[in-house]
Amino acid sequence: MRLQDLKKADASWKDKAVHARYRVESIGSLARLLRHGPGKMAEIFRWDWLRTLAGASNLLDMAVYTRTGRYREASAYALAEVIGGIGDLIDSICAAPDRVVIHEDLVPSEIFRGMGLAPFMAEVIGIAVPLVKADWAEKYIDIAENEGTPPDTCSLPKCTMGVALDGQFPKSAAIVTSNMPCDGGMASYTILERELKSPCFRLDIPYNFYNDRAIDYFVSELKRMIAWLEEHTPGRMDWDRLKEVCIERNKAMEHELEIWELIRQKPAPMAGEAIWLAQLIHMVATPGSPRATRTMKNILKRTKKIMENGGGALPEERYRAVLWNPPTLVFPELFVWAEQQYGVALLADMLTYHRHPFIDVSSPDSMLRSLAQIIVEGPMARHTRGPAENFFDDLFYLYEYFSLDMIWMAGHIGCKNTMALNGMFRERCREREIPLFIMNYDLSDTRVVSPVDMKKQAEAFMETVMKAEPLL
Ligand code: SF4
Repeated sequence: MRLQDLKKADASWKDKAVHARYRVESIGSLARLLRHGPGKMAEIFRWDWLRTLAGASNLLDMAVYTRTGRYREASAYALAEVIGGIGDLIDSICAAPDRVVIHEDLVPSEIFRGMGLAPFMAEVIGIAVPLVKADWAEKYIDIAENEGTPPDTCSLPKCTMGVALDGQFPKSAAIVTSNMPCDGGMASYTILERELKSPCFRLDIPYNFYNDRAIDYFVSELKRMIAWLEEHTPGRMDWDRLKEVCIERNKAMEHELEIWELIRQKPAPMAGEAIWLAQLIHMVATPGSPRATRTMKNILKRTKKIMENGGGALPEERYRAVLWNPPTLVFPELFVWAEQQYGVALLADMLTYHRHPFIDVSSPDSMLRSLAQIIVEGPMARHTRGPAENFFDDLFYLYEYFSLDMIWMAGHIGCKNTMALNGMFRERCREREIPLFIMNYDLSDTRVVSPVDMKKQAEAFMETVMKAEPLL
């Protein structure tokens, strides 16, 4: 299943110009790395993942292929900013190589930025590159398995370990990780620590975290981490700088909440990648950056424009869905196809959905307290490691909030935490009469289930359970 298997939009000259404009911007946001000089370029372009990411402007094709008008423009804009956000991460590690801190995806980067460090989220490689080239992670999964990693470990940490074993990580002053999101994720940092030869700090996140005692404890963990980073890196905490980062995060979140409020309407004035992928990169990988705020603000602006025109994002919205579990990295076109084939609007996903507080920036302690709450309630981990109520309560709240018609569960075979919940999941959806589609696949490995087979499963669900007539 490839994008070219879909029906191409009948694009006007204006639509084509939109594509060209954002393609140039995307290429520009990666080309700016050239400013670091030929020596640096030779060093970083040894990394296969970076060479593959250099073709990321192809992701724009996905955003525009089947779409026209304002929705096409908004989707292309969101994708160009996603590519720009990844470019920012690489740019900052090139600019300050002695300040690089490799951090786990469940440890957001605000504190590192407040300390003048250059954060680089280890898993961003395994998340972003398969979006550009579906089978890319397989070589690295094999490297990790050949080194002795159990094959049934999740393919995301396996890919991250494989990249480290293959010597494709930037040099780092330190590594920061936590006891989340799962055993595979935690175990991968023993390999990173060994291969990168960097000191590693592990944050201890309490199992039950919805109480003051847990937050007090975790604030003390964050203080311990700051002291450790001051000892092992050139970074020093600057509370005013952290305040600026937190204010940026608050602004972006304000826009995000407004977008969510607007897309409650039927038909939804925004959907697809402008919701899930933009939020994944800007609110999970690079929160608190000016680009994140700008992106959220501009997506909101475009959402309002579509609404003012009296319609929805999709030409015909027939169904509204949430994607639970991490998104289908090897088949990001899934919802582009579902949109065109059945009028399915994807309005939310698990990784970007949260109920975090705004950060109280009145004092260093209040900032740490809010950040502690945000980290312990991190996406994926909050939902997948238990108690099970964390998984179901958020999901069913979301189902009501967005007046959804069905739940799509990306049943990633390597995620044992969520696979263990599938029986209960079916039961609870049956009790509530919610149509539930559990798609079998692997997050980063197309050899387990191919995109064609994923599409077939979705077709069978839509036509037998939803009784949907294809639009084409
Ligand atoms: S998808 Fe599941 S198994 Fe994989 S890293 Fe996330 S929580 Fe762990």
